[in-house]
Amino acid sequence: MSGDVIVPFDYGEVRFFRMARTYFGWAGYWTGVYFVDGLLIDSGPPNLAREVATLCRELGVRQCVTTHHHEDHSGNHRLLREQLHITPLAHSSGVKLIAQPETDPQLYRRMTWGVPEAAESAPLGEWLETPRFRLQVLHTPGHSEDHISLWMPDRGWLFSGDLYLAPKLKYLRADEDIYAMLDSLGRVVKLEPQVLFCQHRGRVENGARLLRHKLDFLTELGERIHDLNRRGLPEKEIARHLPGSDLLWRLWTSGHFSKRNFVRAFLRPGDESRRM
Ligand SMILES: [Zn+2]
Repeated sequence: MSGDVIVPFDYGEVRFFRMARTYFGWAGYWTGVYFVDGLLIDSGPPNLAREVATLCRELGVRQCVTTHHHEDHSGNHRLLREQLHITPLAHSSGVKLIAQPETDPQLYRRMTWGVPEAAESAPLGEWLETPRFRLQVLHTPGHSEDHISLWMPDRGWLFSGDLYLAPKLKYLRADEDIYAMLDSLGRVVKLEPQVLFCQHRGRVENGARLLRHKLDFLTELGERIHDLNRRGLPEKEIARHLPGSDLLWRLWTSGHFSKRNFVRAFLRPGDESRRM
């Protein structure tokens, strides 16, 4: 049977709440929200609304910011507004996406996260302040157009949303912009963050080194894809030559996540200057 799980992690000044809907004890996909000095970073998936509402009251959430509009990150914005009178902040390009969410997402998304209600949010400025901290808002598109990361220069902390996830990705979402992602990773690596607060993995040490690993991995993957493409291999064949197996996720998401999406993203026609 299904159940909703929230697992708390205490990192001192930062707290992380990892959450998922489970089926027969199996979590489809773990996601999470951070809480720092009254600020909630992301609001979690809509199918955990009841648990998130209780959590927000217990924590005394005073403001909320969204790393990007995906429903596992902005899914309870409506609830924050209606029950706690908080208008979440989002990148200006995300405000509209949160106000007009997809009405019929893929089955795996409905099962894993539920369907979000339309919600109002307000556009972010360049900095975000809490009583004790100042966080710089960095627009880091790629995973989604409206993706932001939050940078605390005095601490070397980066709230990285879904920019990091893993040093070696095995599959890509169909709607990700790989060239924007490479550009975002390159800019963030230069800041030399010590610690990442990843929305799915929790606190990650050696932030700059791991982000650089991811950047190098994707750059090499792109070179390989372009090389195989020049040799005349079709998309499907190129995907087969890429490392790792995407089988489980490709089947579970009906191809919304796949290795083939890497091939499509790197070979997408458009701005030739972005090509490798
Ligand atoms: Zn996402």
